[in-house]
Amino acid sequence: MSTTPKQPTRPASPIWHPFTQHALQPEMTMISRGEGAYLYTPEGTRIIDAISSWWVVTHGHRYAPIIEAIKAQADQLDQVIFAGFTHPPAEALAADLVAVTPEGLDHIFFSDSGSTCVEVALKMALGYWRNIGKPRSRIVVMEGSYHGDTIGTMSVGERGVFNAAYAPLLFDVAQVPFPEKGREAETLKALEVLCAEEPAAFIVEPLILGSGGMKMYGPDVLAAMKRICEAHGVLFIADEVMTGWGRTGTLFACEQAGIVPDIACYSKGLTGGSIPLAITMCRREIFDAHYSEDRTRTFYHSSSYTANPIACAAGHANLQVWRNEPVRERIEKLKTMQATHLERFRDDARFSDVRQCGTITAMDLKVGDAGYLADVGPRLRAFFAERQLLLRPLGNTLYVMPPYCVTHEDLDTIYDAIAAAADMMA
Ligand SMILES: *Cc1c(COP(=O)(O)O)cnc(C)c1O
Repeated sequence: MSTTPKQPTRPASPIWHPFTQHALQPEMTMISRGEGAYLYTPEGTRIIDAISSWWVVTHGHRYAPIIEAIKAQADQLDQVIFAGFTHPPAEALAADLVAVTPEGLDHIFFSDSGSTCVEVALKMALGYWRNIGKPRSRIVVMEGSYHGDTIGTMSVGERGVFNAAYAPLLFDVAQVPFPEKGREAETLKALEVLCAEEPAAFIVEPLILGSGGMKMYGPDVLAAMKRICEAHGVLFIADEVMTGWGRTGTLFACEQAGIVPDIACYSKGLTGGSIPLAITMCRREIFDAHYSEDRTRTFYHSSSYTANPIACAAGHANLQVWRNEPVRERIEKLKTMQATHLERFRDDARFSDVRQCGTITAMDLKVGDAGYLADVGPRLRAFFAERQLLLRPLGNTLYVMPPYCVTHEDLDTIYDAIAAAADMMA
């Protein structure tokens, strides 16, 4: 205990915030209202939400049709056990989901967060192999991936400072390198070799690795990886928790590669970002492997709030928004606006790898020495906070992932601040 650093003043609130070092960030920003692309403090300060409140808000905060559905459902049924019971919002949402997701994803398992729906996917994959009498358990992952913060999802994600303390509990996985531009063949070769060793599944974030630094790769690579898994009978799990609901330009990222995963995970934008809900969808074969009069083949997974009716009503309302409103046109417009704003950084020597995937843009601020690198994220965040902007760089990677209702003027403000931040750091 002698090495314990000097204790800073204790925080005033008992709340322990996520991904927060309270000793370095003593003050939380109080937010009391949200509307469209903006968050408001109790004093009325307006903050532009340039990262969709951690990638969840799609149409905007408090999007009217979704909020109305939540209110209406709260008046009917708030919660019911989902084992042995069902309810109208879950059934309506499930029917709509089967219709909009890639053809062949016929079954839906409800849960309540991105991490959980990935855990469910891993359990479905292992259950499938066990139930067909060919037990397999090895999971193949991509370098730099993020799939959540529970023990299982950390195991299949990139190892580092974020999970070093828990490393003894994490299970072993096999890893393929990230498909860097021009070196995609190395990834495919590695996947080919690992798939020949009969793993249970390959899990991947399609087209863009979110928390891993907004690293992007093309639909051709995604399609090729799917072909390799298929050829070897390895289950292909697409973690679309972040990429789903229009972020990459299409409703789902897998559409761009023309592939249908065996198991797909969706969460963040599923309710438009209003309320927690997640789903794991799978092909018929995976459900069928569990479908039996033999109780030992049951899929033993549940959480207390599985398919909460209010959350399902919000999800169903989101799908109606997608059906009834020109969401795709809004996304096209946002893609174009984002590309226009990114243009000024293309020749800026202070940035490298200026890139875009659908509605998401990212660029890396060149930072001299590595010791300084750990500090750059928090410094940038503070710089943007002073300008009433919610931007949360991943190390030296700056990215903009706004709700689809963001205006050209909001983007001007955001990108001007990014340019100013580079001046500040120079
Ligand atoms: C955010 C995220 C998760 C985890 O979702 P939570 O709701 O935070 O548990 C999993 N996978 C990907 C790709 C994500 O971006």
